[in-house]
Amino acid sequence: MRLRPICLCTSIFGVLTACSALSEDTAAARSARPLLRAQAPGFYRMALGDFVITALSDGTVSLPLDKLLNNTTPEHIEALMARSFQTLSAEISINAYLIDTGSRVVLVDTGAGELFAPRAGGELFTNLHAAGYRPEDIDDVLLTHVHADHSGGLVVGGKMMLPNSLIHVHQAELDYWFDVQAEDRAPAHQKHSFPQGRASMVPYQIAGKVRPFKGAIELMPGIRTVEAPGHTPGHTFYSVESAGHKLVIWGDTVHCAPVQLPDPSVTIQFDSDAKRARAQREATLSDAAEQRYTVAAAHISFPGLGHVRRRGNGYEWVPQAYGTTLALSQADCR
Ligand SMILES: [Zn+2]
Repeated sequence: MRLRPICLCTSIFGVLTACSALSEDTAAARSARPLLRAQAPGFYRMALGDFVITALSDGTVSLPLDKLLNNTTPEHIEALMARSFQTLSAEISINAYLIDTGSRVVLVDTGAGELFAPRAGGELFTNLHAAGYRPEDIDDVLLTHVHADHSGGLVVGGKMMLPNSLIHVHQAELDYWFDVQAEDRAPAHQKHSFPQGRASMVPYQIAGKVRPFKGAIELMPGIRTVEAPGHTPGHTFYSVESAGHKLVIWGDTVHCAPVQLPDPSVTIQFDSDAKRARAQREATLSDAAEQRYTVAAAHISFPGLGHVRRRGNGYEWVPQAYGTTLALSQADCR
């Protein structure tokens, strides 16, 4: 049999022609579909003893830090942000936390609902569904405080989003946000929080679903309140313990971790009592570093689960190690 001679030049030309046709096809295909920008579903689970904790993202909000942070300078903020490879317009996470005790499903904070729309927030219920829960499954809501990004998800479009839930909140929060004189005294940039807070609470009050508490108490087995006044008058943490493991869920102790951990004296415009909030933050960070428990933080980058350790005169954040087999709390590794 006679083999046909192969012309090398023709063959290379053929390959090149084919390649160029392929790259034209790929470019055409690429231009035909838009870039995908949606983030992964925002939930993350960890085991805490016999409980399962699910961090839920309500999204992020871009905040002008130099305009919001006080008791500092724009240069100091910029330098601290640069140390964390970030700029003055940081993306701040809005996190909520679901505690499944096996007998109760408890949600700590509810995200912003529609109150930051269309700019940010409002993703909590999408992520709740993605995590395998329905709003009707939630037995209890524990509010750290009544600011929009923590209670806004209670009511959307005038409708109660968590109709089966009892709402637990410090009595001092209700007293403050329903106090007309406090609203009159509040600086202009805080006034909008009063009607927003009332709009989130009133439908549940009418339905007889609000359960105010005072002091440091056990709300239910394994979940205790920790009073942390300053950011708001009834600002509260929730301490969760199961089978010897402990998680403390913060409200607004840290708004911007790259700045307020190295320098806890930096306050924020939203503080009702900035001096008290600063002292509260310093005590909270010291306690977390000493006691080594796991922390869940509403505004530290999602999922906001991790530990605090001392660094120099301040602190730093150590994010929880990622795990796909229900990450054990750090205490399990001791
Ligand atoms: Zn907040």
